[in-house]
Amino acid sequence: MTDPTLSPEETQFRDSVRSFVDRKILPKATEWDLAERYPQELFREFGELGWLGITFPEELGGSGGGSVLYALLCSELARGSAAIALGMYVHTALASAAIYRLGSEQQKKRWLPAAMSGERVGCWAYAESGAGSDVTTVATRALRHGDKYVLSGSKMYITNSPFADFMVVVASTAPGDGLKGLSLFVVERDNPGVSVSAPLKKLGMGASEMAEIVFDNCSVAATDRLGPESGGFFEALKVLTLGRIASAAFGVGLGWAAQQSALTYCSERVQFSQPLSKQQFIRFTLADMATRLTAAWQLTLHTARVADSGHRHDLEASMAKLFASETATWVCERTLHLCGAQGYMRESAAQRFYRDCKVIELGEGTSEIQRETIARLMGV
Ligand SMILES: Cc1cc2nc3c(=O)[nH]c(=O)nc-3n(C[C@H](O)[C@H](O)[C@H](O)COP(=O)(O)OP(=O)(O)OC[C@H]3O[C@@H](n4cnc5c(N)ncnc54)[C@H](O)[C@@H]3O)c2cc1C
Repeated sequence: MTDPTLSPEETQFRDSVRSFVDRKILPKATEWDLAERYPQELFREFGELGWLGITFPEELGGSGGGSVLYALLCSELARGSAAIALGMYVHTALASAAIYRLGSEQQKKRWLPAAMSGERVGCWAYAESGAGSDVTTVATRALRHGDKYVLSGSKMYITNSPFADFMVVVASTAPGDGLKGLSLFVVERDNPGVSVSAPLKKLGMGASEMAEIVFDNCSVAATDRLGPESGGFFEALKVLTLGRIASAAFGVGLGWAAQQSALTYCSERVQFSQPLSKQQFIRFTLADMATRLTAAWQLTLHTARVADSGHRHDLEASMAKLFASETATWVCERTLHLCGAQGYMRESAAQRFYRDCKVIELGEGTSEIQRETIARLMGV
């Protein structure tokens, strides 16, 4: 993917990530996917490269870049392995960003430098077996006892949790108050009362690891609450738009990887005495893929630029996430179709793309939730 609208600094950054992905991620992506393990040493490498701190200020250990650089990072990483990008994004755009956006100076200094160096990894624990799209159904309770809260409940499908050092947890402090009764806490993994299940088996994103977390009378200092009591999650939803930009960028990166493999296969595969790419149907499909991916990238880039300009961008973020994730699903499905039986084989990249893409539509607010958000922000 080329983009002449990128500045020299942005182009240089993209090229450096691209080179890293070509050397260190692409050759291992299938192996990591099949092994179903996240190569945790990558967090240290990403930290040394300054990638975990792109959107954070230098005084906290960040590298002071912005959303455009972060979108470039996410799209290039997802081009190599969407699962690797997923683990990185949960750590940065959700766990670390929540601490940065809602935390006190003391909390930021306590958790962020080690998070940005990759020394300690975070996860974002919102979902529960009964709480998905409807945030008012969160059942994990945090009961205040003096200068502590006691957490009870469980979190489901939590990416990075099998190895995370700290967890940003959504819990109810005022049952009955719905969204406005939810608070955020940072919980250390070795806190008594925290247990993490074995990694869960899933359709795709093999190299990313997820599990269930149980909080059994887990005592957390009141000073580890992020933001206001019974309002922290509401505040987080207002400010954590970076996750939607990241998801959109994933969709584009994964889609481009798929499109490239379809292009290669169809250019090399000879049927009816000529490469498949000479067939009009195939040419049109490849053209549609490139067109939709370019549109998805431009919408993502535009959103990131609006974010970096300091203007409100929640509408654009939902549009970019919706369009890019659905584009990725379409491109990956068509890629598998065009790659035929070879693409269907377990070692092929095409089937990995097909298995990986769907979750981009589900996480960070499903397509239906994005459409609801867009309609609401349009005043409908
Ligand atoms: C690989 C993976 C990684 C994940 N990682 C994390 C993580 O790190 N942390 C975390 O907290 N969670 C994580 N999740 C869970 C994620 O947050 C949820 O999948 C998401 O919130 C959607 O909830 P749900 O899957 O329960 O779907 P549901 O809410 O049960 O929705 C099911 C379907 O109904 C649709 N639907 C729901 N409500 C409406 C409505 N009002 N109108 C129309 N349609 C509707 C949805 O769009 C969806 O298609 C992960 C999930 C996956 C698959």
